[in-house]
Amino acid sequence: MPTTDPTETKTETIESTTDSESPLATARRQLERAAAQVDIDPDVVERLKHPSRVQRVSVPLRRDDGSLDVFTGFRAQHDDVRGPYKGGIRYHPEVSADECIGLSMWMTWKCAVMDLPFGGGKGGVTVNPKNLSTSEHERLTRRFAEELRDILGPKHDVPAPDMGTGPQTMAWFMDAYSMQQGETTPSVVTGKPPVIGGSYGREEAPGRSVAIITREAIDHYGWRIGETTVAVQGFGSVGANAARLLDDWGASVVAVSDVDGAIHDPEGLDTRDVEGHNERPGMVSGYDAPETLSNAQLLELDVDVVIPAAVGNVLTADNVDSVRADLIVEGANGPTTFAADTVLEERDVPVIPDILANAGGVTVSYFEWLQDINRRQWSLDRVHEELEDEMINAWSSVRQIVDEQDMTWRDAAYALALSRIGDAKETRGLWP
Ligand code: NAD
Repeated sequence: MPTTDPTETKTETIESTTDSESPLATARRQLERAAAQVDIDPDVVERLKHPSRVQRVSVPLRRDDGSLDVFTGFRAQHDDVRGPYKGGIRYHPEVSADECIGLSMWMTWKCAVMDLPFGGGKGGVTVNPKNLSTSEHERLTRRFAEELRDILGPKHDVPAPDMGTGPQTMAWFMDAYSMQQGETTPSVVTGKPPVIGGSYGREEAPGRSVAIITREAIDHYGWRIGETTVAVQGFGSVGANAARLLDDWGASVVAVSDVDGAIHDPEGLDTRDVEGHNERPGMVSGYDAPETLSNAQLLELDVDVVIPAAVGNVLTADNVDSVRADLIVEGANGPTTFAADTVLEERDVPVIPDILANAGGVTVSYFEWLQDINRRQWSLDRVHEELEDEMINAWSSVRQIVDEQDMTWRDAAYALALSRIGDAKETRGLWP
């Protein structure tokens, strides 16, 4: 079946460490921290603490054997002051209202730091997609789309794939919405297959943006990419695309990993020769490399750059003292816990945050939405060029704050996002 089933590998919110926290706790803490650093009306901050809407729906599903199960689905819409809500739909057993709210807030900051005309949304169904046949996945998706139809739309809220969903899920979602609306509406979701209005380059975009931001950071710190060593945890969509591009651009990618373990070659791996976990499970740890390591050991390698690109909460209070890299670029969402972040800040190890580094995904989703509205598909070259421009613009804006206000990269990215949202809210005012 064409739908990906990343639940097998993505466990970002399920990892438990001594200092991990929920996405909602992280989002609230980040808002408070950013608010303390930006000149913003406290009333605006108060409004941003609350999502605009959280829709909870029942999603009945006729199973293949004729029985019936009823699942619960959610859509959290955090803020739309800058444009329609934007964010993924996940199928995962741990999906909850709070998780969706936290992740929707995260999307608000991510869209704002990229200066995209979107706000933040997130949704999902509390279900284990591994227990769904292809036709059950399709029926669940169509019914979920119908349950949410009143609050979605190209001008209101535009979902995308996330854990446990993929391009085929979005195709069914778009078809269900279009059938009920009476017109083909590709711009209601992004992350579709290109044949029905999806964008070329969408799948590789988060990894590409991680590579672009890593390259810019290397340059910023006065290093040469040809002399830079990189370790990438998670050789999936984000990690493999980032690692291969950095390898193409001259960096020495000395270690990569999948869920089963890591491979290490101090001379640099041929990343185009290593197959990713999603291309063929087990191929990373089974690759013929000079040394195998655990995922924990990869994070502690004496390299210039570590890119955690697998799951959340992997750099924690427990292992941060052993991290020897000079730069961390967050490929995954939330890989660094607050406690680890604090230690890295004290040690002057820069951490380039997820909301900037992996924002290529939502940026190419924005391109897809534009292409659908204009009914004109862009070439892959154009997608790459425009993504490069958007990433460099966002990078430059964040770097300016880092340089001028002596903030960490994370604080600067959140400050930029919050100031853009705050300006929009203050300018529009409160209705009525
Ligand atoms: P993926 O499923 O394609 O790849 C994940 C990789 O991590 C695989 O190699 C897997 O084997 C490995 N892995 C899984 N669990 C692990 C563990 N506990 N320890 C070490 N390795 C483990 O997923 P992806 O799409 O590349 O996403 C990775 C991260 O990036 C997630 O946090 C995701 O939310 C985030 N992200 C993804 C996108 C996207 O559009 N794909 C966009 C932005 C952020």
